[in-house]
Amino acid sequence: MNKTLTMKFGGTSVGSVSAIRQSAQLIKSAKADWQNVIVVVSAMSKVTNLLIEGTQAAILGQSKRYQSIADELTRMHSDVIFELLTSQAEQDHAYGRLTAHIDEFKSLCHAIEILGEASPRAMDVVSSLGERINYHVVAAHLREIGVSAEAVLATELIRTDSVFQSASPDMLISRQITQTRLNPLLEAGSVPVITGFLGATEHGAITTLGRGGSDYSGAIVAACTDSHELWIWTDVPGVMTGDPRVVKNARTLPKVTYREVSELAYYGAKVLHPKTIRPVLESGTALWVKNTFDPNGEATLIVPDGSPTDSISPLRAVTAIKGQTMITVEGRGMIGVQGIAARTFGAVARAHASVTLITQASSEQSICFSVPTSDGRRVVTALEEEFSRELHRRDIDSILTLDDVVIVTVVGSGMQHTPGVSGRIFSALGNKGLNIIAIAQGSSECAISLVTSATDADESVRTIHELIVGEN
Ligand code: ADP
Ligand code: ASP
Ligand code: MG
Repeated sequence: MNKTLTMKFGGTSVGSVSAIRQSAQLIKSAKADWQNVIVVVSAMSKVTNLLIEGTQAAILGQSKRYQSIADELTRMHSDVIFELLTSQAEQDHAYGRLTAHIDEFKSLCHAIEILGEASPRAMDVVSSLGERINYHVVAAHLREIGVSAEAVLATELIRTDSVFQSASPDMLISRQITQTRLNPLLEAGSVPVITGFLGATEHGAITTLGRGGSDYSGAIVAACTDSHELWIWTDVPGVMTGDPRVVKNARTLPKVTYREVSELAYYGAKVLHPKTIRPVLESGTALWVKNTFDPNGEATLIVPDGSPTDSISPLRAVTAIKGQTMITVEGRGMIGVQGIAARTFGAVARAHASVTLITQASSEQSICFSVPTSDGRRVVTALEEEFSRELHRRDIDSILTLDDVVIVTVVGSGMQHTPGVSGRIFSALGNKGLNIIAIAQGSSECAISLVTSATDADESVRTIHELIVGEN
């Protein structure tokens, strides 16, 4: 019998009574094949967004809005609890938890309203509530269908730093505490049902791992338990050639390499959180992405770099990341001046922004990079401070910004051995009159990124996607 399997269920996989029933059946049948099954669950779909919207309403003093969000959350979850759970004891327990957490939400929103702001730490307590409500319901339903299961809060397993909203795990400590907590359960044949998305600092403060971070939770738990496989269950048949919401004829990629999937995830393919890869790569856990609603249908296996992927074309998938701002620092006086790049990116780091793409023309007259638009203003202010002298002397003529741009990225590890790939992409876009604002290609040549205007983005993705499916 296989040893340990970790399964992570995303928001839509636990977003309704029928979805939870379906996911629970998948857990039950895995338990027949695997000695240990560990489950990580997200909040019901839309819940995290609603919680965050509640905090924003609270900051603005809109108490009616956060009250009505509290009512909506109560209704959504209690509908599920009373339809799904059959025993009075399980219903009472899950409902008790729900009302306690909704009270917590209202008190936190009230406190935020009084303060007029929400600290990252407070945001993590609120935004993790969806997971903290939902895991009880899934564990209870499993028990009712005859699977021994226990709800486990990830604060007991995943030890993180205190970078609230984007915390990183301490893998050594997490491994130790996870095994101490889970081994007795597994030895007793029970399925731990763990909250995704969250962890805790050494002082017990709740942290979150970033939006979409339950995939990362799944990977951390899989690595800490030496799981042989991690199955990410979601609402699409694995990793596809493009986002099926944007390209209607997207196809499943039966195999993608770690490198390819990392690039895809980093550049916006929501199907996997970008940090999911590293823990499983290091622990040697096999990673699958599967469709909850067609469990025996197509799926994706992530394979080591360099493995054959049965793809004919070097182009494998296309993705886009919206809401970016291009910033250009330019001036003739920059030529040959040492340290401009270091000072530019030093200023970006001080503004706590991360750079999504960099290009520099070799003439050294300009440096051009992109950041998420939400960070754009802060970055420009930091650059103006850093270069105030150069701006005054006109060595730097201007710091230009272009809002509302999109990074479109084509991924495929075979591109490095195939000449003319970029030429084909540019011609296809040019033939449709689609304009490219900037281009960047990493030295690995596994990805080419293009910056386009928001209006051209979807059409650019579809045009490149036609090249991919046409060649495979
Ligand atoms: P979950 O709640 O299960 O974590 P997400 O919504 O976070 O699900 O991620 C799944 C979604 O990712 C899909 O519904 C799909 O729209 C989107 N997506 C974007 N790019 C891709 C891609 N290349 N392959 C598959 N899905 C993708
Ligand atoms: N519920 C969290 C979010 O929406 C985590 C996740 O679903 O992965 O970001
Ligand atoms: Mg997700």
